[in-house]
Amino acid sequence: MNAHPPRPAVGPVRRIVVAYDGSESSVRAARFALDALTGEVWIVHATDQPRAVAEPRTEEEQGSETGAIEQGLRALQRAEDPSGHRMHVWIRDGKPPKVILAAAAEVDADLIVVGTRGLRGASRLLLGSVSAEIVSRSGRPVTVVP
Ligand code: ATP
Ligand code: MG
Repeated sequence: MNAHPPRPAVGPVRRIVVAYDGSESSVRAARFALDALTGEVWIVHATDQPRAVAEPRTEEEQGSETGAIEQGLRALQRAEDPSGHRMHVWIRDGKPPKVILAAAAEVDADLIVVGTRGLRGASRLLLGSVSAEIVSRSGRPVTVVP
Protein backbone atom coordinates (compact mmCIF):
# COMPACT_ATOMS: atom_id res chain seq x y z
CA MET A 1 0.00 0.00 0.00
CA ASN A 2 1.25 3.44 -0.87
CA ALA A 3 2.09 6.03 1.72
CA HIS A 4 -0.15 9.03 1.94
CA PRO A 5 1.51 12.27 0.85
CA PRO A 6 3.01 14.31 3.68
CA ARG A 7 0.56 16.57 5.40
CA PRO A 8 2.65 18.15 8.14
CA ALA A 9 1.07 20.18 10.90
CA VAL A 10 1.12 23.86 10.02
CA GLY A 11 -0.72 25.28 13.01
CA PRO A 12 -2.23 24.25 16.31
CA VAL A 13 -3.47 20.69 16.67
CA ARG A 14 -7.24 20.99 16.59
CA ARG A 15 -8.43 17.59 15.39
CA ILE A 16 -7.01 14.33 16.71
CA VAL A 17 -7.78 10.75 15.72
CA VAL A 18 -6.99 8.05 18.29
CA ALA A 19 -6.71 4.40 17.23
CA TYR A 20 -8.43 2.31 19.90
CA ASP A 21 -8.51 -1.47 20.25
CA GLY A 22 -9.26 -1.70 23.98
CA SER A 23 -5.64 -2.54 24.86
CA GLU A 24 -3.94 -0.76 27.76
CA SER A 25 -1.69 1.05 25.37
CA SER A 26 -4.67 2.31 23.36
CA VAL A 27 -6.37 3.48 26.57
CA ARG A 28 -3.21 5.44 27.37
CA ALA A 29 -3.24 6.82 23.82
CA ALA A 30 -6.83 8.03 24.35
CA ARG A 31 -6.00 9.54 27.75
CA PHE A 32 -2.97 11.28 26.26
CA ALA A 33 -5.11 12.84 23.55
CA LEU A 34 -7.81 13.89 26.01
CA ASP A 35 -5.63 14.99 28.94
CA ALA A 36 -2.39 16.27 27.43
CA LEU A 37 -3.78 17.85 24.29
CA THR A 38 -6.59 20.22 23.47
CA GLY A 39 -8.86 19.91 20.48
CA GLU A 40 -11.57 17.63 19.22
CA VAL A 41 -10.90 13.91 19.55
CA TRP A 42 -12.22 11.03 17.45
CA ILE A 43 -11.67 7.66 19.08
CA VAL A 44 -11.80 5.16 16.23
CA HIS A 45 -12.11 1.41 16.56
CA ALA A 46 -11.96 -0.94 13.57
CA THR A 47 -13.93 -4.15 13.98
CA ASP A 48 -11.77 -6.21 11.70
CA GLN A 49 -11.77 -9.80 12.92
CA PRO A 50 -9.36 -11.89 10.90
CA ARG A 51 -10.63 -15.44 11.12
CA ALA A 52 -8.08 -18.17 11.29
CA VAL A 53 -9.40 -21.23 9.48
CA ALA A 54 -8.63 -23.38 12.49
CA GLU A 55 -10.31 -20.98 14.88
CA PRO A 56 -13.40 -19.42 13.38
CA ARG A 57 -15.25 -17.04 15.63
CA THR A 58 -18.97 -17.20 16.06
CA GLU A 59 -20.93 -14.03 15.47
CA GLU A 60 -21.76 -14.13 19.15
CA GLU A 61 -18.09 -14.13 20.18
CA GLN A 62 -17.32 -11.38 17.75
CA GLY A 63 -20.30 -9.38 19.01
CA SER A 64 -19.30 -9.73 22.65
CA GLU A 65 -15.74 -8.63 21.87
CA THR A 66 -17.02 -5.54 20.09
CA GLY A 67 -19.52 -5.02 22.92
CA ALA A 68 -16.74 -5.04 25.54
CA ILE A 69 -14.77 -2.48 23.56
CA GLU A 70 -17.86 -0.31 23.13
CA GLN A 71 -18.52 -0.49 26.85
CA GLY A 72 -14.93 0.57 27.58
CA LEU A 73 -15.34 3.48 25.19
CA ARG A 74 -18.58 4.62 26.78
CA ALA A 75 -16.91 4.51 30.23
CA LEU A 76 -14.01 6.55 28.87
CA GLN A 77 -16.47 9.04 27.40
CA ARG A 78 -18.32 9.40 30.71
CA ALA A 79 -15.05 9.92 32.60
CA GLU A 80 -13.21 12.15 30.16
CA ASP A 81 -15.94 14.02 28.32
CA PRO A 82 -19.09 14.13 30.43
CA SER A 83 -20.49 17.07 28.48
CA GLY A 84 -20.05 15.11 25.26
CA HIS A 85 -18.60 18.05 23.37
CA ARG A 86 -15.06 16.98 22.74
CA MET A 87 -14.91 13.29 22.09
CA HIS A 88 -16.51 11.27 19.32
CA VAL A 89 -16.62 7.49 19.11
CA TRP A 90 -16.50 5.85 15.72
CA ILE A 91 -16.72 2.09 15.30
CA ARG A 92 -16.19 0.97 11.74
CA ASP A 93 -15.71 -2.25 9.85
CA GLY A 94 -12.47 -2.84 8.03
CA LYS A 95 -8.75 -3.34 8.40
CA PRO A 96 -7.52 -1.15 11.26
CA PRO A 97 -4.83 0.87 9.44
CA LYS A 98 -7.17 1.57 6.55
CA VAL A 99 -10.05 2.55 8.86
CA ILE A 100 -7.82 4.84 10.94
CA LEU A 101 -6.23 6.57 7.95
CA ALA A 102 -9.63 7.02 6.28
CA ALA A 103 -11.03 8.55 9.48
CA ALA A 104 -8.04 10.88 9.70
CA ALA A 105 -8.62 11.96 6.10
CA GLU A 106 -12.35 12.40 6.72
CA VAL A 107 -11.91 14.78 9.65
CA ASP A 108 -8.66 16.19 8.22
CA ALA A 109 -6.87 15.29 11.44
CA ASP A 110 -3.79 17.25 12.46
CA LEU A 111 -2.50 14.29 14.48
CA ILE A 112 -3.06 10.56 14.89
CA VAL A 113 -2.38 8.94 18.27
CA VAL A 114 -1.78 5.19 18.50
CA GLY A 115 -0.59 2.76 21.15
CA THR A 116 2.80 1.09 20.75
CA ARG A 117 1.19 -2.33 20.99
CA GLY A 118 -2.26 -3.74 21.10
CA LEU A 119 -4.14 -6.76 22.24
CA ARG A 120 -1.87 -9.37 20.71
CA GLY A 121 1.26 -7.76 22.09
CA ALA A 122 4.31 -9.58 20.76
CA SER A 123 6.63 -7.57 23.02
CA ARG A 124 9.77 -8.57 21.12
CA LEU A 125 8.56 -6.35 18.32
CA LEU A 126 9.17 -2.64 18.43
CA LEU A 127 5.66 -1.81 17.29
CA GLY A 128 2.51 -3.75 16.57
CA SER A 129 1.62 -4.21 12.93
CA VAL A 130 -1.24 -1.70 13.08
CA SER A 131 0.83 1.06 14.69
CA ALA A 132 3.77 0.30 12.37
CA GLU A 133 1.58 0.56 9.29
CA ILE A 134 -0.04 3.78 10.48
CA VAL A 135 3.37 5.33 11.24
CA SER A 136 4.80 4.34 7.89
CA ARG A 137 1.79 5.16 5.70
CA SER A 138 0.27 8.21 7.36
CA GLY A 139 1.15 11.51 5.77
CA ARG A 140 0.07 13.10 9.04
CA PRO A 141 2.10 13.39 12.22
CA VAL A 142 1.65 10.35 14.46
CA THR A 143 2.24 10.11 18.22
CA VAL A 144 2.94 6.63 19.56
CA VAL A 145 2.03 6.11 23.23
CA PRO A 146 3.61 3.17 25.12
P1 ATP B 1 -0.47 -7.37 16.11
O1 ATP B 1 0.38 -6.73 15.06
O2 ATP B 1 -0.28 -8.83 16.23
O3 ATP B 1 -1.92 -6.97 16.03
P2 ATP B 1 -0.50 -5.87 18.59
O4 ATP B 1 -1.95 -6.20 18.77
O5 ATP B 1 0.38 -5.89 19.79
O6 ATP B 1 0.15 -6.81 17.49
P3 ATP B 1 -1.28 -3.48 17.12
O7 ATP B 1 -2.51 -4.22 16.72
O8 ATP B 1 -0.45 -2.84 16.08
O9 ATP B 1 -0.30 -4.40 18.00
O10 ATP B 1 -1.73 -2.35 18.16
C1 ATP B 1 -1.03 -1.14 18.31
C2 ATP B 1 -2.01 0.01 18.36
O11 ATP B 1 -2.71 0.06 17.11
C3 ATP B 1 -3.09 -0.10 19.42
O12 ATP B 1 -2.63 0.35 20.70
C4 ATP B 1 -4.14 0.81 18.83
O13 ATP B 1 -3.76 2.17 19.03
C5 ATP B 1 -4.03 0.49 17.33
N1 ATP B 1 -4.99 -0.56 16.93
C6 ATP B 1 -4.77 -1.89 16.87
N2 ATP B 1 -5.89 -2.55 16.48
C7 ATP B 1 -6.84 -1.62 16.27
C8 ATP B 1 -8.22 -1.64 15.88
N3 ATP B 1 -8.85 -2.78 15.61
N4 ATP B 1 -8.89 -0.47 15.78
C9 ATP B 1 -8.26 0.69 16.07
N5 ATP B 1 -6.99 0.78 16.46
C10 ATP B 1 -6.27 -0.34 16.56
MG1 MG C 1 -3.38 -5.99 17.24
